[in-house]
Amino acid sequence: MPPLSPSVSEVLSKRLHEAREDLLATLRSRTDAPDDEAPAIAPLAHQGQSDDAPQSDMLSDIEQHLADHESALLHEIDIAIGKLESGGAGICEACGQDIPEDRLLATPTVRLCIACQEQLEKDRHTGRGPSM
Ligand SMILES: [Zn+2]
Repeated sequence: MPPLSPSVSEVLSKRLHEAREDLLATLRSRTDAPDDEAPAIAPLAHQGQSDDAPQSDMLSDIEQHLADHESALLHEIDIAIGKLESGGAGICEACGQDIPEDRLLATPTVRLCIACQEQLEKDRHTGRGPSM
């Protein structure tokens, strides 16, 4: 028997697919922009390729970081969609308990129940130093 009511499952599926589309559009627009944005006349084209400006390195680092973050999020969304389709959504990955529907609706990609999430965060804080 599926742990989620059909209506909740439907809402989650819709939200996840929308989030996925948004994310893909963002990623696509970022990677395609230089080529696709101004294909006709490009008066600024020569400026875009100015020789090694120190700022462009920093910018691409930030963009890379953002891209990593988005890829990770996309991965989470894919997992959540897969679980939704296979009937595994709404079950805590750590302890197997049902995840409250409210929690899922608030965060469709959530994979742990509240207790396990708190435990994980506690472990993260005590186990290692501050991240970054
Ligand atoms: Zn749990």
